[in-house]
Amino acid sequence: MSQTPLHLESPLLESRALSLAAQRAVWLKMEALQPPGSFKIRGIGHACQIHAQRGAKRFVSSSGGNAGMAVAYAGRVLDIPVTVVVPQTTTARAQELLRLEDADVIVHGASWQEANELALSLLGPDDAFLHPFDDPLLWAGHASMVDEVARAGVVPDAVVLSVGGGGLLSGVAEGMARNGWSNVPIIAVETTGAASLHAAMQAGQTVALDAITSIAGSLGAKRVCEQAFQWTQQRPVQSVLVSDASALDACERFLTDHRVLVEPACGASLALAYEANAALAPYRNVLFIVCGGATATVAQIRQWRQAA
Ligand SMILES: *Cc1c(COP(=O)(O)O)cnc(C)c1O
Repeated sequence: MSQTPLHLESPLLESRALSLAAQRAVWLKMEALQPPGSFKIRGIGHACQIHAQRGAKRFVSSSGGNAGMAVAYAGRVLDIPVTVVVPQTTTARAQELLRLEDADVIVHGASWQEANELALSLLGPDDAFLHPFDDPLLWAGHASMVDEVARAGVVPDAVVLSVGGGGLLSGVAEGMARNGWSNVPIIAVETTGAASLHAAMQAGQTVALDAITSIAGSLGAKRVCEQAFQWTQQRPVQSVLVSDASALDACERFLTDHRVLVEPACGASLALAYEANAALAPYRNVLFIVCGGATATVAQIRQWRQAA
């Protein structure tokens, strides 16, 4: 069984285009280039390797997004079968990508809740269930991206990242802590219709949103994990909201500038650079986590943009 990590060391580059737009040095950690399309493989790959060592015979996921993609990829590489239960709302494109990774895809239920219930009911004693964001194994794996930046000798004075359920934030905060960057602020970006971290910070505790109204599907967790909220109480974290239109615009501009297509969930972070957001004003060197997104297509982004 392989002990080599399932993720790649991703490129770290200083972006001329985004630096000019943001009027400060913008560094990009290019997680969009991970084989299954996003940073998720860091944490999920790590968790899957540990479950495999403990004897797991199957991986089960209920994510039709990048988490499911990462589980399917990890299972194929580790030669362990994968079952992904997704709701009927999951796009044909996402289902196809999962099947291309040899996952067994079960389409069930009108919403993620129902798909997730079926997935949990399928679990046998030798199955491992992979949560998309609320798992210490995931955070430990995500933290490796900060180790790579530190090893490259880059020390930013702020880190910009997107927040869905808060797994990325929890992992990056863990990585920053172990590299002595606990005082470096994290700028946590959400779209206005998926602002569950923002709501938690306002309420002083995690809260469930009534509904997700953003097109940034990968940010659509109604409630952030407790760990993500705890980090906001223990280190500097600033919450920033952007519109769907800004996130989509950033996706299009990033495609032109760097020839990489990312999801609106990732465009949300990039929008801070493109719009020279006031939250960046205090900082000279800003690291952006280009979290990626496997299911984005140019046609879909243009269609959303026309509707936005
Ligand atoms: C999962 C994901 C996010 C959000 O990460 P969380 O750990 O849920 O906060 C953002 N962008 C992309 C592309 C993702 O796949």
